[in-house]
Amino acid sequence: MGIEIVLDKCTGCALCVKACPFAAIKVKDKKAIIEANCTLCGSCVEICKFDAIILERPKLSDKDLSDYKDVWIFVELREKEIKKVSLELASKAREIADTLGERVGAVILGGKVKHFCDDIAGYGVDIAYITENENLVEYNTNNYTGILTGLIMKYKPNIVIFPATHLGRDLAPRVAASLKIGLTADCTGLSIKDGLLLQTRPAFGGNIMADIITPNTRPQMATVRPNVMKVSNPDTSRNAEIISTPVEIDSKAKRIIIKEVVKTTKEGVKSLDEADIIISGGRGMGSSENFKILEELADTINGVVGVSRAAVDAGWRPRSDQVGQSGKTVSPKLYIACGISGKIQHQVGMKGSDTIIAINNDPEAPIFDIADCGIVGDLFEVIPALNEELKKNLSKN
Ligand SMILES: Cc1cc2nc3c(=O)[nH]c(=O)nc-3n(C[C@H](O)[C@H](O)[C@H](O)COP(=O)(O)OP(=O)(O)OC[C@H]3O[C@@H](n4cnc5c(N)ncnc54)[C@H](O)[C@@H]3O)c2cc1C
Repeated sequence: MGIEIVLDKCTGCALCVKACPFAAIKVKDKKAIIEANCTLCGSCVEICKFDAIILERPKLSDKDLSDYKDVWIFVELREKEIKKVSLELASKAREIADTLGERVGAVILGGKVKHFCDDIAGYGVDIAYITENENLVEYNTNNYTGILTGLIMKYKPNIVIFPATHLGRDLAPRVAASLKIGLTADCTGLSIKDGLLLQTRPAFGGNIMADIITPNTRPQMATVRPNVMKVSNPDTSRNAEIISTPVEIDSKAKRIIIKEVVKTTKEGVKSLDEADIIISGGRGMGSSENFKILEELADTINGVVGVSRAAVDAGWRPRSDQVGQSGKTVSPKLYIACGISGKIQHQVGMKGSDTIIAINNDPEAPIFDIADCGIVGDLFEVIPALNEELKKNLSKN
């Protein structure tokens, strides 16, 4: 078991040499040779056009399972900072690792990332596994998958948790497929039961909550939605051990080329899942044009506009702005629900908000059950009036 070159099929094309991030393949006499530092990451297998590389990872026995230790998180970066969801994952990983008596590892990939280690250490990370390379500044599926798979093969973590962001949802399944192990996507809860990771997630359209365990393979892997785990108070006195893994990336050997990064949020405005203030509209808004009054209010108080599923289904707003069970989970400081009835599927996505204000003309609407402040009235009168008052008051300060 391991990795093998099928000599009859190998043409010595060297594509595998370029694809290997760990510089563990060379070509001699027109045949590829795997070196001892191979991590079995599988990048070469994916790129080989001639099926000339066979990779077989051994099935794990009970004894092998106990070789896997520590709780890892994948740290997602946004430009010059750590994304909030990574702090949520670090805080949760600390809790899980304490229950298991294990350490917390954080994988950070990018151009220059060493300076992030102290920041993430404060949230309970013991070891930062960093890889710095100019070709990792932008996310690239193949490079990130190869490196992460290689690190997992080398250090054998017990658990690996990814954010269920666009990036995490692309990366985690690739790593799982590469390792031929399972992955529980979109978890809303993680805990330890009988030494195993209990991964809780909605199933059958949210009608039941499923508890999933992974008893036979390692690592146990899950993605977790942003804003469902709480960020712990940082301990700035903590330091993390840094383990740096150098890689060689041939920028010309990219199989995926990012041509353009298109930002959907305005410059300086936070995305929906990181916003401090969200003003959401539902079916009560009546049309896509009517959302203009929510955008005006959002401009006044530096907020972001969200939406209920009914309004998305009506074609008034994009699905990426949907809050709720089948949309995003948010936890802003202030959530203003306008013309939203507050069905349970909407509530699960926003009830973690610090303060909830509901505007609805039906005094019996369930949204009032969870609102800190409720305004019973016509939103087309209330919102413009509220905006005018806020503008007056803000201009005075
Ligand atoms: C599996 C599944 C997943 C789902 N996922 C989600 C999800 O992620 N997010 C989500 O939101 N929903 C989700 N839903 C749908 C959810 O059950 C509701 O149908 C939806 O949230 C209703 O949206 P709404 O509150 O905008 O519309 P409605 O329930 O129709 O409520 C509209 C409200 O607007 C009020 N109103 C009307 N006119 C005015 C006015 N002029 N001024 C003030 N108030 C006014 C009404 O009194 C009413 O309370 C899901 C459903 C299922 C089955």
